[in-house]
Amino acid sequence: MRKTKEDRIKKLKKKHIWPSVVGLIVILFVFTIIMAVAVGMSAMDIVNKKLADSSRRSEKIAGLFVDYNQESADEITQMVLSHVDVLDEVEAVAVYDAERKPIWSSNDKYPALDDSIQMEFLTVTDAERVGVLIEQDDEQIFTVDDGMIVLAEDAFKHIFSSSTINETGAFANIKLWIVTDADDKEVMVLNNIPMYFQDFMMAGVCLILCGILIAIFVIYYLISIISMVSGMHKTNKVIYTDVMTGGDNWLSFIKKGTGLLKKSKRSGRKYAVLHLEMLKYRSFCTCFGVSKGEELIESLYRALKGEVTHSEVMAHQENAAFGLLLEYTENSQLEERIEKIQNTMSSVLPGIKMYFGVGVYLVQPGENDVEQLYNNAMIACEMSGEETEGKIAYFDVEMNNQKLWERKVEDDMERALINREFQVYLQPKISTKEEVLGGAEALVRWINPTEGFIPPNRFIPIFEKNGFILKLDDYMLEEIAKVQAGWLAEGRTLVPISVNVSRAHFTREDLAEHICAIVDKYQVPHDVIELELTESAFFDDKKVLLNTVQKLRKAGFQVSMDDFGAGYSSLNSLKELKIDVLKIDADFFRGAEAEERGLFIVSKVIELAKKLNMKIVAEGIESKEQVEFLTGQDCDLIQGYFYAKPMPVAEFAQKYSV
Ligand code: C2E
Ligand code: CA
Ligand code: CA
Repeated sequence: MRKTKEDRIKKLKKKHIWPSVVGLIVILFVFTIIMAVAVGMSAMDIVNKKLADSSRRSEKIAGLFVDYNQESADEITQMVLSHVDVLDEVEAVAVYDAERKPIWSSNDKYPALDDSIQMEFLTVTDAERVGVLIEQDDEQIFTVDDGMIVLAEDAFKHIFSSSTINETGAFANIKLWIVTDADDKEVMVLNNIPMYFQDFMMAGVCLILCGILIAIFVIYYLISIISMVSGMHKTNKVIYTDVMTGGDNWLSFIKKGTGLLKKSKRSGRKYAVLHLEMLKYRSFCTCFGVSKGEELIESLYRALKGEVTHSEVMAHQENAAFGLLLEYTENSQLEERIEKIQNTMSSVLPGIKMYFGVGVYLVQPGENDVEQLYNNAMIACEMSGEETEGKIAYFDVEMNNQKLWERKVEDDMERALINREFQVYLQPKISTKEEVLGGAEALVRWINPTEGFIPPNRFIPIFEKNGFILKLDDYMLEEIAKVQAGWLAEGRTLVPISVNVSRAHFTREDLAEHICAIVDKYQVPHDVIELELTESAFFDDKKVLLNTVQKLRKAGFQVSMDDFGAGYSSLNSLKELKIDVLKIDADFFRGAEAEERGLFIVSKVIELAKKLNMKIVAEGIESKEQVEFLTGQDCDLIQGYFYAKPMPVAEFAQKYSV
C-alpha cells in the first residue's frame, strides 16, 4: 500500500513517551513493594524475636507460680522476688485465680480488664494459646491470636503509630501483658520490650540501598523521558521548518491552513489561497549567484510574514514561490491587500525590478484541502502566463479542465505514438501559375480511441512544453519519408512535402545529421522534403539554428520559414538566415479593416523575398479574391481551404495523382 505524506510524518514523529512513563511507574511500584516487603519482613523478624524472648520469659515466670497458694503468699513472694534476674526484665507480674480474681501482684499492678476483654480472655483455654494485652501510652489493647506473627504485626503497628524516643535510647517500648496458665492460675507478666534503632540497622541499610536503587532508576528514566521530549520537539521543528527561510515550511502551511479552514466553517470567515511567485528567479540567481538568491527568498519571506495576521498563514513553497492563506471580506479589499503585499515584496531589493505572478483561489465554504486549493491558485498563475505579470489571476473551472486535459494528453502520448494514433494529413500547396499541385504540408492529427479526432492545437502546445514534440516531429518526418519512398517506387512524380520542425529541436547541434539519418533510411532524395521552421527558433540558440539550416540546405533539403509575419517578426532574421521558402502567415489575410494595409505588406514582402531568391507560399487562403491577388503578386504557391483542407495521405494520393 502506498504511504501517504501523513504516514511518513507520523513515522518520523513516532516516538512515544508513554512506554517510558509506564516503565517508570511499574519500576517504582515494583521496587517500592519489594523494598516494603523486604524491610517489613526483616523488621518483623526482629520484633518477633523480641516477642518470643518475652514469651519465654513470661512462661518461666509463670512456672514459679505453679505451687503458689493463698497461704504461702509471702513465701511465694519471697521466692519470686529471689529470681531477681527474671523479674528485673519485666515490669510487673499479676496472678489470677481460677475465677480470675487477682490474687497476687509484684507491684499492685493488675491489668484493668473490661467486660469484653474479659470474655475474650476467658476463651483462652488452650495451653498453646497466649492471650496478650498490649499496653501502649497507657492504653491497653487486647489481642488474642494463635500465632506470634499476627501478634507482632499488631505490636509493630502500635510501635509506629505513636512512638517517641525515650531516655533509654529506645525509640519505642512495647508493653505486653503475656498470659500463661499455671495450673489453676493464670499468670500475667507485663513485659517491657524496648525497640532500638540498632536492632533495625540491617533493615535500615536495606531500606537505604533500595531507596538509592529506586532513585537511580527514577533519575535514569526521567533523563530518558526528558531527552525523548526534547528529541520530539526537535524532530517537530525539523519537520515543520523551512531550511531556506528558517520559518514555517510547506508541511506547516498545509497543517495550519487546514486547521484555519476547518475553523472557518464555524466562524464564517472567508479565505483566499494565494500562490505568489517571483518571476525570473533563476535569471536573478544567474546574475547575482544562488546564495544571493537564497538571501532574497529569506528577505521576501520576512517581508511577507509581516503582512499576515494571526488568523492567516504563509510559507515558502519552493524556489521563489510562496503560499498564503488570507482572510478577506470583499474581492476589492483582497485585491488591495495583494497589491500592498506586492509593493512590500518589491521594496525588499531597492533598485532591482522584481516581477511577481499571483494566482488566487477563493475558498468555497467547506473546502479545506489546502494542497488542492493551492494547486488551483498555482494553475491560475501558470495559465495567466508571464505577460500578465503583476496582475491577479483568479482560478476558474476552465483552467482546471485544461490542466486535466494536459495530464490526460501526457498520460496517453507515448502509447498513442506506439499505437500509431498520430496520423499524417496532407494539405496541398497549389502553384499560382498553372494551378497544379506544387507541394504539400504534413500536418498531424490524433485519432484517439476515446476522444476521437483531436486537432493539433489541443496537443501540440502541450508537447512543446513537455518535449514530446521532438519524438512526434521525428515520427512525422519518418512517415513522410516513407510516403515519398512509396510514391517514388510507384513511379509517381514527387512534389516537396514539408514537415514542421519545432523550435525545441534547435538545442541539438547534430539536428541536421539526425534529420538526414531519418530520411536516408528510406533513400528518398532530400529535395522532396521541406523543413518548416518558425521564426521564433531565432530567439533560442541562434548559432545552432544558422548552422543547422546551412547544413540542411547543403544536404539538399528545402528550408522554409513558417508563419512569417506572425508574432514578433524581424526582418533581421531574413538577413541572417538563408532559406528557400517564405510562408506568409494567414493573419495577413484576416480582418476587414487591416486588409488593405495587410495586402500592401504582403505585396512588399513578396517583392523582398523574390529579390532574396526565395519562393513564396501564402497560407490560410480561403477566397477567390485572395487567390487572384496573390497570383497577381507573383506568389508561387497557395495553401488554404480555398483549394483543400488537410486530408489523409490515401485521399491525397487519389486526388492528386500525378
Ligand atoms: P501551421 O504549421 O501554421 O499549419 C497550418 C495550419 O493552418 C494548419 O492547421 C492548417 O490546417 C491550417 N490551415 C490551412 N489552410 C487554412 C485555411 O484556409 N483557413 C484556416 N482557418 N486554416 C487553415 P492545423 O493542421 O490545425 O495545425 C495547426 C498547427 O499545429 C500548425 O500550424 C503547426 O504549427 C502545428 N502542427 C501541426 N502538425 C504538426 C507537426 O507534425 N509538428 C509540429 N511541430 N507542429 C505541427
Ligand atoms: Ca507549418
Ligand atoms: Ca504556418
